[in-house]
Amino acid sequence: MTAIELDSVTKRFEDVTAVDGISLAVEPGEFLVLVGPSGCGKSTTLRMIAGLESVSDGSLEIGGERVNGVEPKDRDVAMVFQNYALFPHMTAERNMTFGADAARDISESELSKRAAEVAEMLGIEDLLDRKPAALSGGERQRVAIGRALVREPSVFLMDEPLSNLDAKLRIQMRTELASLHRRLQTTTVYVTHDQTEAMTLGDRVAVMNDGHAEQVAPPQELYDRPATRFVAEFIGEPAMNVFPVEVHGDSVVHDTGLEVPVSADEMAAQDGIDAADLGVRPEDIGIAPLDDAPAGTCTATAEVTVTEPLGDSLLVHCRLGDETVQVSTTPRATFEPGERVALTVDADRSHLFDRE
Ligand code: ADP
Repeated sequence: MTAIELDSVTKRFEDVTAVDGISLAVEPGEFLVLVGPSGCGKSTTLRMIAGLESVSDGSLEIGGERVNGVEPKDRDVAMVFQNYALFPHMTAERNMTFGADAARDISESELSKRAAEVAEMLGIEDLLDRKPAALSGGERQRVAIGRALVREPSVFLMDEPLSNLDAKLRIQMRTELASLHRRLQTTTVYVTHDQTEAMTLGDRVAVMNDGHAEQVAPPQELYDRPATRFVAEFIGEPAMNVFPVEVHGDSVVHDTGLEVPVSADEMAAQDGIDAADLGVRPEDIGIAPLDDAPAGTCTATAEVTVTEPLGDSLLVHCRLGDETVQVSTTPRATFEPGERVALTVDADRSHLFDRE
């Protein structure tokens, strides 16, 4: 049985369609991340699972039961919000336990015991008597997570829980969330607009665009085999280069004469169409001075426009015909703006997309 199943779920707010027929199945114990640009419908999807928004169309199941119309408190889910949503007049402990007995029969003393265990797990056992104003951002976030843990729900729902923390703390909490999940194995749906967070936390990642899921896959598969141009350009930093090509026989050709052989599978997917987009990640393009240019196909002449040392690599921006192409190379390479270079595309690691 799937833990959560969305079947063609749609949410309309008057004239806005926030979520447009999304279908998703979350496996028991899975950590599924919803990622995508602002406004693509991530929060609304999560809030429908929580029961905080009604479903306009489609079917939503939790633990095999249809829950369209079921009250949030009857769904056995616990949500962690971006702004923590703590009560200012209550201590950390009370914030964690308050209302946790509403859905189930748990005694006060049992709740206190659970709060103490969870606080220890989160390293906030010395802060239980403090009110939120006396806690740092990271500590407040731990209390908010603690509140969800105390409930021992079958599903955690997290809406950008780390986005109010500074960069260093965000990375630390990200690692803590990952080990917490490894330990508890509770089914989790996690919303973020940050692709690094998505890739590092998710067992699988659903890339959302315009109210639907473009691709749902493990992180490395999204990176290696993006199903659409949208996914290709959203996942990966620096972004994948994408430029227009014509399809000729079993290869594709760019205006500059750059020719890249394409696998039979990719060619079949083109279904006789003669114009497509070729995608190549910056690390899958070789760069060499013109005198060292490798002979043969997959190579074209370009001009360096800007170089950016990134510490562990050098990002070289080049002009290839009308396109700007980014190439990632070794940090000690020396290329100068204005220099003419040979770019060589790794054909096995290039991707063909329908022209949009
Ligand atoms: P995301 O979480 O991906 O940023 P949201 O789910 O918050 O996206 O929003 C998706 C779309 O739905 C946006 O266009 C947003 O403006 C709209 N929307 C969200 N909530 C409401 C609401 N309560 N009323 C009207 N429109 C809304």
